[in-house]
Amino acid sequence: MAIRNLRYEGDEILSKKSREIEVIDDRIKELAEDMFDTMHKFDGLGLAGVQVGVLKRIIVIDLYDDVSKFCLINPVIVEKSDETVEIEEGCLSYPNQFGKVVRSVKVKVKALDLDGKKVTLEGEGLLAQALQHEIDHLEGETFKSKILPGTYEYITPEDATGSNKK
Ligand code: ZN
Repeated sequence: MAIRNLRYEGDEILSKKSREIEVIDDRIKELAEDMFDTMHKFDGLGLAGVQVGVLKRIIVIDLYDDVSKFCLINPVIVEKSDETVEIEEGCLSYPNQFGKVVRSVKVKVKALDLDGKKVTLEGEGLLAQALQHEIDHLEGETFKSKILPGTYEYITPEDATGSNKK
């Protein structure tokens, strides 16, 4: 268990594409544990490997509802609803910055779990949003480039409690 250093805006690694994980070995399992620890320390809802400097296709999500907590290896969005929503978002790599982005209301994701088993996940609402946000990170895309004009906000840290951070 360890807290890893987060990578922040301006770090060019955030724009790089992550590589597929071929073998889920002990190092990957340790990385997953550290990613959960790091995400929890900063009260995030999700974290991608690249955000701790590892260009591998791994994401963790925890919506703090006792069921939506998982690590996904090589996640791929296989279906997206046509219905979209304009919704506020933030990111642990962009502290105190928020803005509205367009997300599909529902997504279906295929991935592997930490035991290497194939999993299919259907997410709606906040879970769908978190999945899209984290999978974007694996492509080197960040929410900041998707912020709708006129919705960007910088919130001073004292006011930022309770906001969604991913
Ligand atoms: Zn993020």
